Amino acid sequence: MVRALARVNLAAIERNCARLRRELRDGAELAAVVKADGCGHGAVPTARAALAGRATWLAVATAAEAAELRAAGLDAPVLVMGALSDEELPVALRARADVVAWDERFAARAAELAAAREGPAVAVHVKLDTGMGRLGTRDPAQARRVADAVARAGELRLAGAMTHFATADEPGADDGFFEAQLERFATFAETLRSEHPGLLVHAANSAATLRSAAAHFDLVRCGVATYGLDPFHQDPAARELEPALELRSYVAALKPSARGESAGYGRRFVAERDTVLGVLPIGYGDGWRRGLSNNAEVLVGGARVPLVGTISMDNLTVDLGPAPSAGVGEPAVLIGAAGQERITAEEVARRLHTINYEITCGLTARVPRAYHRDGEPA
Ligand SMILES: *Cc1c(COP(=O)(O)O)cnc(C)c1O
Repeated sequence: MVRALARVNLAAIERNCARLRRELRDGAELAAVVKADGCGHGAVPTARAALAGRATWLAVATAAEAAELRAAGLDAPVLVMGALSDEELPVALRARADVVAWDERFAARAAELAAAREGPAVAVHVKLDTGMGRLGTRDPAQARRVADAVARAGELRLAGAMTHFATADEPGADDGFFEAQLERFATFAETLRSEHPGLLVHAANSAATLRSAAAHFDLVRCGVATYGLDPFHQDPAARELEPALELRSYVAALKPSARGESAGYGRRFVAERDTVLGVLPIGYGDGWRRGLSNNAEVLVGGARVPLVGTISMDNLTVDLGPAPSAGVGEPAVLIGAAGQERITAEEVARRLHTINYEITCGLTARVPRAYHRDGEPA
C-alpha cells in the first residue's frame, strides 16, 4: 500500500490501439501520440504497449521526448510535432526523429545541421494550418514552397504533409468547420502528392479518427484514445475505449468528528452530524487538484463517498458516515472502478470545468506509476 499510486494497464492500451486500428480505412496506419509523458501514463511503457497494439509510428511534441524514446531503445519512426528552436533541432535530429516545417528558414537550418553530420537524410513533414490557428502556415502556396525547398535539399527528405483539426471533438456543434478544414487539407495534400509521390499524408487526432474515415489519409495521430480516454469527453465505454489508468490511495487514519467540528484549511467542512472522516494521504502535490475540494467523490469499500473540505498538498478527507465499515488501510480509488462503481477521468474533468487530458497529464512525478497487464505483472 502506498499513499498515492497510478496503476496503468498496458493491456488496455494495447486493446485501445487495436480498436482504433479496426476503425481505420484500408492502408492507414496508427501513430501513438505519447507526448507529455504519455499524458501522464509514462511515455516509454505506453509507447511499447501501443506498438504491441500495432501502432507503427510514435509521435511526441518535443525533441527531449523523442530522445527519451530512443534512449529506451525504441526504434519505431518518431515524429516530433512541435516547434523546434535552434537549440532543440539538433536534439531531434540526433534522435533520428522526423520533424515538421512550415517556413523556409527552418528547412534551411535543418539542411545545414543535416549536412554537418553523417547519416540518412532528415525526414521533414510540411504543415498547413487549415484552421487550427496555431503552428503551420495558413498559405498553401507557402507550404508548397517549403515542400519544394525540402525536396530540393539533398540532406532532407520530404516525408509528409500534415494539418491539425480545431473542432474534431465537437461533432454537430462546429458549423461545418471540421469538414471545411478537411476539404482545404485534402485539396492541398492531393496537389502536393501529385508533385511528390510517396508522401505520407496525415491529419487526424483521436476525435477526428473516430469521427470521419475521410480524415484518415495515410496515418492517424491518436493520443487520448490510446489511453482509453474519450476524445469527446463522454463515457469512454460508449466508444469501446478502456481507461488504462487508475489512481489509488488508502485510508491512512480515521477521524471521528462530532457535529460542529471542522476539517482542513479554512474550515471549509464542518460536520453537520456526528460522523467519521477518512484521511487519504494524497493531495494537490500529487495532481489531485484543489478545485476538487468539497467537489468530488472517491470509492472506498466499493461505495462512493464525498470528498469533504479543502484538499491540502499531501492529504484530503472524505466523509465515511457515522458507522463506517471501512477501517484504516482500506483502499481508496480516485479514478477507476471498485465494486459496481466507476469514476472516470471525464467525471473528474467535468467537476473542474476542464478536459480528461488535463487530469491525467496533471498527475505529478511524486505519484509512482505501476504497470500491469490485466492485473498480472507487466
Ligand atoms: C496532441 C496532438 C495529437 C493527438 O491528439 P489527441 O486528441 O490526444 O488524439 C495529434 N496531432 C497533434 C498535432 C497534436 O498536437
